Amino acid sequence: MDVPPRLVIDDGAIARNVESIIRATGTPLMAVLKADAFGHGPQADVVLGAGASSIGVTTIEEALALRSSAVRAPVLSWLNPVDADWAEAVRSGVDLAAPGLSHLFAIAGAALAVGLTARVHLHLDVGMSRDGAAPDDWRTLMHFARAWEERGAIRVIGVMAHLSSAQDPADEETTVERMRFVNGCRMAVRAGLRPGVRHLAATSAALSRPDTRFDLTRVGAGLFGIDPSGHTVLEHAMTLDAPIVSVRDVKAGTGVGYGLSHRTDRDTRLALVPVGYGDGVPRAASHRASVSVRGARRPVVGVISMDQLVVDVGDLGVAEGERAVVFGPGAHGEPTAGEWAGWAGTIEHEIVTGIGPRVHREHVPWHAEDADVAGASTTAPVAAVAR
Ligand SMILES: *Cc1c(COP(=O)(O)O)cnc(C)c1O
Repeated sequence: MDVPPRLVIDDGAIARNVESIIRATGTPLMAVLKADAFGHGPQADVVLGAGASSIGVTTIEEALALRSSAVRAPVLSWLNPVDADWAEAVRSGVDLAAPGLSHLFAIAGAALAVGLTARVHLHLDVGMSRDGAAPDDWRTLMHFARAWEERGAIRVIGVMAHLSSAQDPADEETTVERMRFVNGCRMAVRAGLRPGVRHLAATSAALSRPDTRFDLTRVGAGLFGIDPSGHTVLEHAMTLDAPIVSVRDVKAGTGVGYGLSHRTDRDTRLALVPVGYGDGVPRAASHRASVSVRGARRPVVGVISMDQLVVDVGDLGVAEGERAVVFGPGAHGEPTAGEWAGWAGTIEHEIVTGIGPRVHREHVPWHAEDADVAGASTTAPVAAVAR
């Protein structure tokens, strides 16, 4: 086959999303590029070129990879084991979240050892019982942060927290968690800290709850066209397509795939598409999913295998070498990652981050000269369209 299964990523869509989000929020944007930019590959130059002012990632490894590719903007890493390579992070100018005392001590100790001051964001858990300092530990954490500041080991430049329930803009829980965050920030100031950047909102809150924006928004999913709150029109950037490697005409009643869980209901043509759950096409979507062939939706039949799936292409006259679009932005009637998520009982995030390494990557490039500089600097709240 000439062109293998491939993931085409429209970098321009990501750049335009950055511009739309900054325009809608009127707030500096930390672009969250964790997990290989939610499966979209290297995007630091695109998001920074389009107006993001910093980058957020999960691990120090991810942050160091950005530094190795010559990213000089601030990079924050917020989830690391206590014995992570803090020294290398500090030497590379990576900002570090401290979600508790043991992490704070490890960061401060590493900074003293390398003779530099670590830039720290104190991370408060405001409700979801996941990462961040437990509320009971917050006062102690700030006390020691101040003590380490006085020794020159760290500087607390930010306070952060993450909302549990922002996908529903009307959820009262967000109001409660926001108040806990405000109180945590006030306590930090009373403890003698001067956290210049307070940040709480990720995609949903950033776009639908202006009261959560504070000094910057930390947006991941929205960069890639996913807004769980359904609030803002953004562009999807990914298209997964694959060649049809063979076709076969079969009689009504023919069994398809493992367990013969599907039988054709008429004489028809089956087309074999060489992607499966080993490539991130979820098996749980079997018996519900469809793909697009010649611009028409055709059902995936039988159980999705590790490496392949079968499509009932009916009487479209489809031949070997044509292509099937598994998902895309939806502009040409093809299924979206969101529909695949629905078929598989999951969320879009899991579909886009799950496409495996065997699938080739192609980027439709975007260049900073294309940036909508005027738009990116305005604070007018446009682009926000309530559902
Ligand atoms: C993933 C993540 C984000 C980004 O969330 P989105 O909903 O994808 O915008 C922000 N902050 C933290 C702590 C995260 O883990």
